[in-house]
Amino acid sequence: MRYLKKSLVGKVPYHSKKISDGIILNANESAFETPKKIIKLIKDELDNIDLRRYPDTDNTLVRNELAKVYNLDINNLTIGVGSDQLLDCVFRSLIDNEYILSCNPTFSMYKEYASYTNGKFIDIDFLPGFIFDLESIIKNIDKFKPKLVIICSPNNPTGSVIERSELELIINKTDGVVLLDEAYSEFYKSNYDLGIKYENVIVLKTFSKAYALAGIRVGYAIAAEDIINTINICRPPYNVSTISNIIAAIAIKNRYLYRDNIAKIIKLKDELYDNLCILGLNPIRSYSNFIFVKLNDVIYKHLLEKKIYIRRLNYNGEFWHRINTGTAEENKILVQTIREVL
Ligand code: PMP
Repeated sequence: MRYLKKSLVGKVPYHSKKISDGIILNANESAFETPKKIIKLIKDELDNIDLRRYPDTDNTLVRNELAKVYNLDINNLTIGVGSDQLLDCVFRSLIDNEYILSCNPTFSMYKEYASYTNGKFIDIDFLPGFIFDLESIIKNIDKFKPKLVIICSPNNPTGSVIERSELELIINKTDGVVLLDEAYSEFYKSNYDLGIKYENVIVLKTFSKAYALAGIRVGYAIAAEDIINTINICRPPYNVSTISNIIAAIAIKNRYLYRDNIAKIIKLKDELYDNLCILGLNPIRSYSNFIFVKLNDVIYKHLLEKKIYIRRLNYNGEFWHRINTGTAEENKILVQTIREVL
């Protein structure tokens, strides 16, 4: 990569092997397929689609539906190609060599996007049991005065959550912007209204997890109009395809179709937690659709051999694993397969 700019030397392009065979529990996707009724509604809409034209660059269709659901003005919303694109826009529109404070471990892309704009990262470790260390967060906000504080709740990969009162304390303490990443909030609870209550808060959400629509790449941000305009400065024209706009609008309009699956996913995740405890492993209590657990090499390699894919992460020199819940059948096979090598 001889033309790569100096500040990015040493980086490698993002890659995630496309897996289509086996039990796939490594990307926090929905355990269940997109509801059949949603697929039917999509097919009906496709009959009338006009793909000759560019999409609506304002993504009005989805914003209108979201505005109704959340009782917001559409100017409090912007839509991205996944919440990933909005993260990139947040970093590019806010950060120039400034401090960003977040917790460790958390979603790895924050650091990637920060590096493109020379952001300086302050990592706050969790307390034992991966509990948010509010005291340390506040102390370091005072010390570094970060331009951006990122709180992911439920946190990827630990599943930890932060309470609303703690969030409000952080928001009131910082002169910068607080980004609350709620990619998994449908599995616990949402504080989306903080994006409206405060001038300096961005709440980020996605259709990739609870809505079983990772394939359409749509995410959204809720914030004060001034912050939405700021993010939009760096949002590319016509960013979300016409097809994705239509599908996301259908999903949000028919969100009641997801209620049962979300309840099932929470139950399956709790059962998986119990079963991992019974096996003598020490999983972390999670409020999302995945579980964080330390496993030895033998178990990890055996799962791979059996085509059971989980996410391995190096945290403070040790290998931890993030396993998203599958269906009841998939979880049963997972637990049986681990038991074979205990
Ligand atoms: N935030 C968090 C915490 C995530 O885990 C993910 C996906 N893994 C994203 C944002 C990005 O999701 P998407 O781009 O699919 O909306």
